[in-house]
Amino acid sequence: MNIRLRSAAILLAVLSIIPQVVFGASVKKKEEAVASIEKHKAEIIGLSDEVWALAESALLETRSAKLLADYAERQGFTVERGVAGMPTAFVASYGEGRPIIGVLGEYDALPGLSQKAQAEKEALEPGAPGHGCGHNLLGTAALGAALAIKDLMAAGKLKGTIRFYGTPAEEAVGGKVYMIREGLFKDLDVCLTWHPDDKTRVSVDGSQAIVDFIVEFKGRTAHAAADPWNGRSAVAALEFFTAGLNRMREFVKPTVRMHYTILNGGDVPNVVPAYARLWCWLRDSKGAGVEQLLGRTRRIAEGAALMAEAESKITIQAGDWETLVNMTGEKVMFSNLTWLGPIAFTAEEQEFAKKIQRATGVEPKGLDGSVQPWSAPKPDPEGGSTDVGDVSWIVPTLSMNATTSPVDAPWHAWPVVACGGMSIGHKGLVYAAKVLAATMVDLFEDAKTVAAIQAEFKEKTKGVVYKPFIPAGPPSLVKR
Ligand SMILES: [Zn+2]
Repeated sequence: MNIRLRSAAILLAVLSIIPQVVFGASVKKKEEAVASIEKHKAEIIGLSDEVWALAESALLETRSAKLLADYAERQGFTVERGVAGMPTAFVASYGEGRPIIGVLGEYDALPGLSQKAQAEKEALEPGAPGHGCGHNLLGTAALGAALAIKDLMAAGKLKGTIRFYGTPAEEAVGGKVYMIREGLFKDLDVCLTWHPDDKTRVSVDGSQAIVDFIVEFKGRTAHAAADPWNGRSAVAALEFFTAGLNRMREFVKPTVRMHYTILNGGDVPNVVPAYARLWCWLRDSKGAGVEQLLGRTRRIAEGAALMAEAESKITIQAGDWETLVNMTGEKVMFSNLTWLGPIAFTAEEQEFAKKIQRATGVEPKGLDGSVQPWSAPKPDPEGGSTDVGDVSWIVPTLSMNATTSPVDAPWHAWPVVACGGMSIGHKGLVYAAKVLAATMVDLFEDAKTVAAIQAEFKEKTKGVVYKPFIPAGPPSLVKR
């Protein structure tokens, strides 16, 4: 059978399973999972608000990680802290035996995005980080879902192991990649996650592969006026490099994204700079494309160094693989989205959202809590990368999005922080926890569904050797 036919066969098999799963005996257990989330709602929202206010950035999420790990421990989970060489990474488990279902949580904030939970732009603490990607909601909702499953297990209604992964630094080095290298996901049957969004939907579009590296140039210093002929400028090399990279833009696929910032560009004009440094990210819809691009970029750096009579060095810092979407699993997730129905927002919440939209120059459409219809994935993902991508090549990984922000309002920006600290974000959080928990009930209850998800994963990863982009050793805790 060719791949396409085989995938179609798997899909048909799953479609015939889903109606029984959704409307069968497990519905009662899903209702109990939902009730458990309602019971713990105030605590989970309280945790999210604390993480929101702490707003700790990548690898510095000490108090945020502790809040979630302590809560999991109080609820009866066994918690292993400081895993994979990262003090802010942890794994919380409950139950025993198979299946082993994992759920991923994040809690890192973004530098410089501090914002009050209000519809006007105003920092809570000027210059401080803020939750511009809604990870305060992400981590707590995932933990809430794990807790609902734990409650069902404790009552003897589900069998197996539930594992919550506290995964730091999604916005920087990609903590999950280091956790993969420690083998922390390898015995999972299925893994779940979600992400805050301006829509409520299954995530079938995937994400881009990325490589993150530093380019350094070393030249020779001299007095810029007295004896410039003795100098060899590292900044000249850097300028040749960026000229080369920017010229290459014309000759790459439309799926490619290249961006950089200059970290060191000399100190004063009257000294020929001996050192220059640039931070660069290359992305494409597939890892192979990124590898190829990196090869071309290395040659540009060598060429730039040659022209400036300097030396060049490229150091890989991090990178993510593209996300491998599991359509069989996403169908199960979708059936639970439709089972729960839309997120209802109040007139005040809609007005709050419209105020933000007017302030950011987008159409004041308010919030969209409806469940987006099932649609075929696009051939290439939209711009953006995540370390969830790497996990998806180790274990079948299912993801969804819940509305936590106004339609089309800018992301990685103050509107996301504002909504993530009030009732709009809270509603998305509680909703996501319910979808994840209901989907996990399906997985714990139905071995056939798990087998179909794994069959698709096996088919799609056949012959693939996963090799992370990360360098040896634990990630550096030094702020870059
Ligand atoms: Zn994010």
